[in-house]
Amino acid sequence: MSIRKAIILDRDGTLIEDKDYAYKIEDLKLLPGVIEGLKFLQQDYLFFIVTNQSGIGRGYYSESDFFQFNNHLIKVLEENQIRIEETFYCPHIKEENCECRKPKIKYIKKIVDDWNISIKDSWMMGDHPSDIQFGINGGCKTVYMITGHGKKHLRDLKANGIIPTLVHSNFLEAVEEIRKLDI
Ligand SMILES: [Mg+2]
Ligand SMILES: [Zn+2]
Repeated sequence: MSIRKAIILDRDGTLIEDKDYAYKIEDLKLLPGVIEGLKFLQQDYLFFIVTNQSGIGRGYYSESDFFQFNNHLIKVLEENQIRIEETFYCPHIKEENCECRKPKIKYIKKIVDDWNISIKDSWMMGDHPSDIQFGINGGCKTVYMITGHGKKHLRDLKANGIIPTLVHSNFLEAVEEIRKLDI
């Protein structure tokens, strides 16, 4: 690829079912269309996960629980020939006002710098308004997924004037539209 493009993925509610602070491997369930969708994009994009994990800060699960769970997801994707380059997570609670919690763009900047990504040609996909704000703040295109929390927050999104590039309820359909817009 001549320019390097990324798909930055929220994890819970976007790639996997959002089961509220999930960390047990038996609770890991991929959402429909995720494998097919990522396969469809991987020739043209590098994949990254950026996830807010305040369950760590709240003491619901440990950092090592998080790694175990996330590594399992990475392994399942690898078994399907899908490669996630890096996972970035924020372990803090909102009140800590850290620099790494979406919609703050520490991790987008890091992805751009470390991987030499053209951010305006890249996408953020997520199911929470903060994912869309993160993408907009970071300068990429966005897909709001009405999968996990997406439906519940659709009104907040509009009320706060946060406008995603695309809105979708199925991962594969979202990906098909990304491909169409990028060709
Ligand atoms: Mg989410
Ligand atoms: Zn943080």
